[in-house]
Amino acid sequence: KRKQKGFAFYAAGRDNKSISRLGLSSELKEAIEQDQLILDYQPMVDISSGRIFCAEALVRWNHPQYGLVPPEEFIPSAEQTGVIRPLTLWVIDRALAQVSSWSKIGIDLSISINLSVRSLQDRQLPAQVQRLVMLHNADPSRVILEITESAIMSDPLTARRVMRRLSSMGFQLSVDDFGTGYSSLAYLKQLPVDEIKIDKSFVTQMDRDENDAVIVRATIDLAHNLGLKVVAEGVESTDVWDLLEMLGCDTAQGYFIRKPQGPRELADWICSREWKQERWVTPLKLAK
Ligand code: C2E
Ligand code: MG
Ligand code: MG
Ligand code: MG
Repeated sequence: KRKQKGFAFYAAGRDNKSISRLGLSSELKEAIEQDQLILDYQPMVDISSGRIFCAEALVRWNHPQYGLVPPEEFIPSAEQTGVIRPLTLWVIDRALAQVSSWSKIGIDLSISINLSVRSLQDRQLPAQVQRLVMLHNADPSRVILEITESAIMSDPLTARRVMRRLSSMGFQLSVDDFGTGYSSLAYLKQLPVDEIKIDKSFVTQMDRDENDAVIVRATIDLAHNLGLKVVAEGVESTDVWDLLEMLGCDTAQGYFIRKPQGPRELADWICSREWKQERWVTPLKLAK
Protein backbone atom coordinates (compact mmCIF):
# COMPACT_ATOMS: atom_id res chain seq x y z
CA LYS A 1 0.00 0.00 0.00
CA ARG A 2 2.72 2.38 1.02
CA LYS A 3 4.71 1.46 -2.03
CA GLN A 4 1.97 2.64 -4.37
CA LYS A 5 1.54 5.82 -2.43
CA GLY A 6 5.27 6.51 -2.60
CA PHE A 7 5.52 5.89 -6.31
CA ALA A 8 2.44 7.98 -6.99
CA PHE A 9 4.05 10.85 -5.14
CA TYR A 10 7.29 10.66 -7.08
CA ALA A 11 5.49 10.25 -10.38
CA ALA A 12 3.20 13.21 -9.85
CA GLY A 13 4.15 16.24 -11.89
CA ARG A 14 7.36 14.72 -13.13
CA ASP A 15 8.18 13.88 -16.70
CA ASN A 16 10.04 10.65 -16.55
CA LYS A 17 11.62 8.04 -14.39
CA SER A 18 15.12 9.49 -14.29
CA ILE A 19 13.84 12.85 -13.07
CA SER A 20 11.80 11.21 -10.37
CA ARG A 21 14.87 9.24 -9.40
CA LEU A 22 16.87 12.45 -9.11
CA GLY A 23 14.20 13.82 -6.80
CA LEU A 24 14.24 10.70 -4.71
CA SER A 25 18.00 10.60 -4.53
CA SER A 26 18.37 14.16 -3.31
CA GLU A 27 15.66 13.49 -0.78
CA LEU A 28 17.47 10.40 0.39
CA LYS A 29 20.70 12.31 0.65
CA GLU A 30 18.95 14.78 2.93
CA ALA A 31 17.36 11.92 4.82
CA ILE A 32 20.83 10.68 5.74
CA GLU A 33 21.97 14.13 6.80
CA GLN A 34 18.79 14.78 8.76
CA ASP A 35 18.96 11.47 10.57
CA GLN A 36 15.77 10.09 9.06
CA LEU A 37 17.24 6.65 8.57
CA ILE A 38 17.06 4.15 11.39
CA LEU A 39 18.44 0.68 11.97
CA ASP A 40 16.48 -2.24 13.34
CA TYR A 41 18.31 -5.32 14.56
CA GLN A 42 17.28 -8.95 14.28
CA PRO A 43 19.01 -11.60 16.40
CA MET A 44 20.74 -14.63 14.87
CA VAL A 45 20.99 -17.81 16.91
CA ASP A 46 23.52 -20.66 16.85
CA ILE A 47 21.19 -23.64 16.53
CA SER A 48 23.20 -26.28 18.37
CA SER A 49 23.93 -24.17 21.46
CA GLY A 50 20.90 -21.83 21.28
CA ARG A 51 23.25 -18.92 21.72
CA ILE A 52 22.24 -15.51 20.41
CA PHE A 53 25.57 -14.46 18.96
CA CYS A 54 24.81 -11.89 16.30
CA ALA A 55 22.33 -9.27 15.10
CA GLU A 56 21.61 -8.24 11.53
CA ALA A 57 21.28 -4.49 10.96
CA LEU A 58 18.29 -3.63 8.73
CA VAL A 59 17.78 -0.07 7.52
CA ARG A 60 14.43 1.80 7.40
CA TRP A 61 13.55 5.30 6.32
CA ASN A 62 11.47 7.19 8.83
CA HIS A 63 9.94 9.45 6.21
CA PRO A 64 8.26 12.67 7.42
CA GLN A 65 5.21 12.00 5.19
CA TYR A 66 5.08 8.25 4.70
CA GLY A 67 6.22 6.97 8.03
CA LEU A 68 8.48 3.92 8.11
CA VAL A 69 9.49 3.00 4.57
CA PRO A 70 10.98 -0.49 4.14
CA PRO A 71 14.43 -0.85 2.52
CA GLU A 72 13.16 -2.57 -0.60
CA GLU A 73 11.42 0.68 -1.54
CA PHE A 74 14.50 2.90 -1.48
CA ILE A 75 17.62 0.73 -1.73
CA PRO A 76 17.09 0.05 -5.49
CA SER A 77 16.91 3.74 -6.36
CA ALA A 78 19.77 4.50 -3.99
CA GLU A 79 21.80 2.01 -6.03
CA GLN A 80 20.83 3.62 -9.29
CA THR A 81 21.63 7.14 -8.19
CA GLY A 82 24.83 6.56 -6.26
CA VAL A 83 23.40 7.55 -2.87
CA ILE A 84 24.09 3.97 -1.90
CA ARG A 85 27.71 4.76 -0.99
CA PRO A 86 26.93 7.31 1.77
CA LEU A 87 24.00 5.12 2.82
CA THR A 88 26.15 2.00 3.17
CA LEU A 89 28.82 3.90 5.09
CA TRP A 90 26.14 5.39 7.34
CA VAL A 91 24.79 1.91 8.09
CA ILE A 92 28.24 0.51 8.85
CA ASP A 93 29.11 3.49 11.04
CA ARG A 94 25.89 3.21 13.07
CA ALA A 95 25.98 -0.55 13.34
CA LEU A 96 29.58 -0.57 14.62
CA ALA A 97 28.72 2.19 17.10
CA GLN A 98 25.79 0.06 18.29
CA VAL A 99 27.94 -3.01 18.85
CA SER A 100 30.24 -0.91 20.97
CA SER A 101 27.37 0.54 23.06
CA TRP A 102 25.86 -2.90 23.60
CA SER A 103 29.26 -4.12 24.68
CA LYS A 104 29.43 -1.37 27.31
CA ILE A 105 26.24 -2.68 28.92
CA GLY A 106 27.49 -6.27 28.81
CA ILE A 107 25.78 -7.45 25.65
CA ASP A 108 28.22 -9.32 23.48
CA LEU A 109 27.02 -9.52 19.87
CA SER A 110 28.61 -9.81 16.46
CA ILE A 111 27.01 -7.74 13.72
CA SER A 112 25.81 -8.64 10.24
CA ILE A 113 25.58 -5.84 7.67
CA ASN A 114 24.07 -5.87 4.16
CA LEU A 115 26.16 -4.61 1.27
CA SER A 116 24.45 -3.60 -1.96
CA VAL A 117 25.23 -4.64 -5.52
CA ARG A 118 26.90 -1.30 -6.09
CA SER A 119 29.08 -1.49 -3.00
CA LEU A 120 30.71 -4.60 -4.38
CA GLN A 121 31.69 -2.70 -7.49
CA ASP A 122 33.04 0.19 -5.45
CA ARG A 123 36.80 -0.20 -5.21
CA GLN A 124 37.02 2.53 -2.61
CA LEU A 125 34.71 0.66 -0.26
CA PRO A 126 37.32 -1.51 1.51
CA ALA A 127 39.43 1.50 2.51
CA GLN A 128 36.38 3.40 3.73
CA VAL A 129 35.20 0.42 5.75
CA GLN A 130 38.68 0.04 7.20
CA ARG A 131 38.53 3.64 8.42
CA LEU A 132 35.22 2.97 10.21
CA VAL A 133 36.58 -0.18 11.81
CA MET A 134 39.49 1.79 13.23
CA LEU A 135 37.23 4.65 14.31
CA HIS A 136 35.04 2.27 16.34
CA ASN A 137 37.86 0.01 17.42
CA ALA A 138 35.83 -2.90 16.01
CA ASP A 139 37.00 -6.47 15.55
CA PRO A 140 36.47 -7.30 11.84
CA SER A 141 36.20 -11.01 12.61
CA ARG A 142 33.01 -10.14 14.51
CA VAL A 143 31.57 -8.33 11.51
CA ILE A 144 29.69 -10.30 8.84
CA LEU A 145 29.20 -8.59 5.50
CA GLU A 146 26.18 -9.93 3.59
CA ILE A 147 26.42 -9.90 -0.16
CA THR A 148 23.64 -10.99 -2.51
CA GLU A 149 24.22 -13.50 -5.26
CA SER A 150 23.15 -10.97 -7.88
CA ALA A 151 25.84 -8.57 -6.65
CA ILE A 152 28.50 -11.17 -7.21
CA MET A 153 27.22 -12.23 -10.61
CA SER A 154 26.68 -8.76 -12.09
CA ASP A 155 30.39 -7.94 -12.24
CA PRO A 156 32.22 -11.02 -11.03
CA LEU A 157 35.78 -9.72 -11.51
CA THR A 158 35.36 -6.52 -9.52
CA ALA A 159 33.20 -8.28 -6.96
CA ARG A 160 35.91 -10.87 -6.44
CA ARG A 161 38.52 -8.16 -6.01
CA VAL A 162 36.51 -6.22 -3.45
CA MET A 163 35.59 -9.44 -1.62
CA ARG A 164 39.24 -10.51 -1.42
CA ARG A 165 40.17 -7.16 0.07
CA LEU A 166 37.39 -7.34 2.65
CA SER A 167 38.21 -10.93 3.49
CA SER A 168 41.91 -10.19 3.92
CA MET A 169 40.93 -7.39 6.31
CA GLY A 170 39.36 -10.10 8.49
CA PHE A 171 35.64 -9.66 7.77
CA GLN A 172 33.35 -12.66 7.47
CA LEU A 173 31.59 -12.79 4.11
CA SER A 174 28.11 -14.21 3.75
CA VAL A 175 26.05 -14.80 0.60
CA ASP A 176 22.54 -13.50 1.26
CA ASP A 177 19.31 -14.68 -0.40
CA PHE A 178 21.08 -17.84 -1.53
CA GLY A 179 19.04 -19.88 -4.00
CA THR A 180 17.29 -16.94 -5.63
CA GLY A 181 20.08 -16.12 -8.09
CA TYR A 182 22.08 -18.10 -10.56
CA SER A 183 25.33 -18.76 -8.78
CA SER A 184 26.32 -22.26 -7.77
CA LEU A 185 28.02 -23.28 -4.58
CA ALA A 186 30.88 -24.60 -6.69
CA TYR A 187 31.38 -21.11 -8.09
CA LEU A 188 31.07 -19.42 -4.70
CA LYS A 189 33.75 -21.73 -3.40
CA GLN A 190 36.27 -19.89 -5.59
CA LEU A 191 35.47 -16.73 -3.64
CA PRO A 192 36.47 -15.95 -0.05
CA VAL A 193 32.97 -16.75 1.21
CA ASP A 194 32.53 -18.06 4.78
CA GLU A 195 28.80 -18.59 4.91
CA ILE A 196 25.62 -18.79 2.88
CA LYS A 197 22.21 -17.59 3.96
CA ILE A 198 19.41 -19.69 2.51
CA ASP A 199 16.62 -17.40 1.31
CA LYS A 200 13.50 -17.36 3.42
CA SER A 201 11.37 -18.40 0.42
CA PHE A 202 12.79 -21.93 0.86
CA VAL A 203 12.78 -21.95 4.65
CA THR A 204 9.49 -20.56 5.94
CA GLN A 205 7.31 -23.41 4.61
CA MET A 206 9.85 -26.22 4.58
CA ASP A 207 7.85 -28.14 7.19
CA ARG A 208 4.90 -28.29 4.78
CA ASP A 209 6.53 -28.20 1.35
CA GLU A 210 8.52 -31.29 0.48
CA ASN A 211 10.37 -29.54 -2.37
CA ASP A 212 11.55 -26.77 -0.08
CA ALA A 213 12.71 -29.34 2.46
CA VAL A 214 14.70 -31.19 -0.20
CA ILE A 215 16.34 -27.98 -1.43
CA VAL A 216 17.26 -26.83 2.07
CA ARG A 217 18.67 -30.22 3.02
CA ALA A 218 20.76 -30.52 -0.15
CA THR A 219 22.04 -26.97 0.22
CA ILE A 220 23.10 -27.53 3.83
CA ASP A 221 24.91 -30.75 2.95
CA LEU A 222 26.70 -29.35 -0.07
CA ALA A 223 27.67 -26.13 1.73
CA HIS A 224 29.05 -28.10 4.68
CA ASN A 225 31.02 -30.36 2.35
CA LEU A 226 32.55 -27.22 0.85
CA GLY A 227 33.43 -25.89 4.29
CA LEU A 228 30.78 -23.16 4.41
CA LYS A 229 28.53 -22.31 7.34
CA VAL A 230 24.79 -22.16 6.72
CA VAL A 231 22.26 -19.63 7.99
CA ALA A 232 18.52 -20.16 7.49
CA GLU A 233 16.49 -16.93 7.38
CA GLY A 234 12.71 -16.72 7.72
CA VAL A 235 12.38 -19.26 10.55
CA GLU A 236 8.83 -18.64 11.72
CA SER A 237 7.89 -21.78 13.62
CA THR A 238 9.10 -24.36 16.05
CA ASP A 239 8.62 -27.08 13.40
CA VAL A 240 11.03 -25.37 11.01
CA TRP A 241 13.53 -24.81 13.83
CA ASP A 242 13.37 -28.52 14.72
CA LEU A 243 13.87 -29.55 11.10
CA LEU A 244 16.86 -27.25 10.70
CA GLU A 245 18.36 -28.59 13.90
CA MET A 246 17.93 -32.12 12.61
CA LEU A 247 19.55 -31.20 9.29
CA GLY A 248 22.56 -29.68 11.06
CA CYS A 249 21.99 -26.10 9.94
CA ASP A 250 24.34 -23.75 11.82
CA THR A 251 22.33 -20.56 12.36
CA ALA A 252 18.69 -19.52 12.46
CA GLN A 253 17.09 -16.12 12.06
CA GLY A 254 13.41 -15.26 11.85
CA TYR A 255 10.21 -14.17 13.52
CA PHE A 256 10.14 -17.38 15.56
CA ILE A 257 13.12 -16.02 17.46
CA ARG A 258 12.47 -12.31 17.18
CA LYS A 259 11.35 -9.71 14.65
CA PRO A 260 13.78 -6.92 13.78
CA GLN A 261 13.50 -4.15 16.38
CA GLY A 262 15.27 -1.06 17.64
CA PRO A 263 18.54 -1.40 19.59
CA ARG A 264 16.92 -0.46 22.91
CA GLU A 265 14.11 -2.97 22.51
CA LEU A 266 16.58 -5.70 21.58
CA ALA A 267 18.69 -4.90 24.63
CA ASP A 268 15.59 -4.88 26.85
CA TRP A 269 14.55 -8.28 25.51
CA ILE A 270 18.01 -9.69 26.07
CA CYS A 271 18.12 -8.34 29.61
CA SER A 272 14.55 -9.33 30.44
CA ARG A 273 13.48 -12.49 32.18
CA GLU A 274 10.87 -13.46 29.67
CA TRP A 275 13.23 -15.03 27.18
CA LYS A 276 15.31 -16.90 29.72
CA GLN A 277 12.60 -19.54 29.80
CA GLU A 278 12.92 -19.91 26.07
CA ARG A 279 15.52 -21.95 24.29
CA TRP A 280 17.97 -19.19 23.50
CA VAL A 281 21.16 -18.64 25.43
CA THR A 282 22.09 -15.15 26.56
CA PRO A 283 24.69 -12.94 24.95
CA LEU A 284 25.12 -11.20 28.31
CA LYS A 285 28.78 -11.39 29.32
CA LEU A 286 28.00 -11.56 33.04
CA ALA A 287 25.44 -14.32 32.73
CA LYS A 288 27.84 -16.84 31.16
P1 C2E B 1 17.62 -9.53 3.80
O1 C2E B 1 18.99 -9.05 4.08
O2 C2E B 1 17.46 -10.85 3.16
O3 C2E B 1 16.87 -9.42 5.19
C1 C2E B 1 15.88 -10.29 5.59
C2 C2E B 1 14.51 -9.67 5.46
O4 C2E B 1 13.56 -10.64 5.89
C3 C2E B 1 14.29 -8.47 6.36
O5 C2E B 1 13.37 -7.62 5.69
C4 C2E B 1 13.64 -9.08 7.59
O6 C2E B 1 12.85 -8.17 8.31
C5 C2E B 1 12.79 -10.15 6.97
N1 C2E B 1 12.54 -11.26 7.88
C6 C2E B 1 13.29 -11.65 8.93
N2 C2E B 1 12.77 -12.75 9.55
C7 C2E B 1 11.66 -13.06 8.84
C8 C2E B 1 10.69 -14.12 8.97
O7 C2E B 1 10.73 -14.96 9.85
N3 C2E B 1 9.69 -14.13 8.06
C9 C2E B 1 9.59 -13.21 7.05
N4 C2E B 1 8.58 -13.32 6.21
N5 C2E B 1 10.50 -12.20 6.89
C10 C2E B 1 11.52 -12.14 7.79
P2 C2E B 1 13.63 -6.06 5.59
O8 C2E B 1 14.14 -5.55 6.89
O9 C2E B 1 12.40 -5.44 5.01
O10 C2E B 1 14.82 -5.96 4.55
C11 C2E B 1 14.62 -6.31 3.22
C12 C2E B 1 15.90 -6.31 2.45
O11 C2E B 1 16.41 -4.99 2.30
C13 C2E B 1 17.01 -7.10 3.11
O12 C2E B 1 16.83 -8.46 2.86
C14 C2E B 1 18.22 -6.51 2.43
O13 C2E B 1 18.42 -7.12 1.18
C15 C2E B 1 17.80 -5.07 2.22
N6 C2E B 1 18.45 -4.24 3.24
C16 C2E B 1 18.08 -4.03 4.51
N7 C2E B 1 18.94 -3.21 5.14
C17 C2E B 1 19.90 -2.90 4.23
C18 C2E B 1 21.08 -2.09 4.26
O14 C2E B 1 21.47 -1.50 5.29
N8 C2E B 1 21.82 -2.01 3.11
C19 C2E B 1 21.44 -2.66 1.98
N9 C2E B 1 22.23 -2.53 0.88
N10 C2E B 1 20.35 -3.44 1.91
C20 C2E B 1 19.58 -3.55 3.03
MG1 MG C 1 20.60 -9.74 4.86
MG1 MG D 1 18.49 -12.61 3.23
MG1 MG E 1 16.05 -12.33 1.66
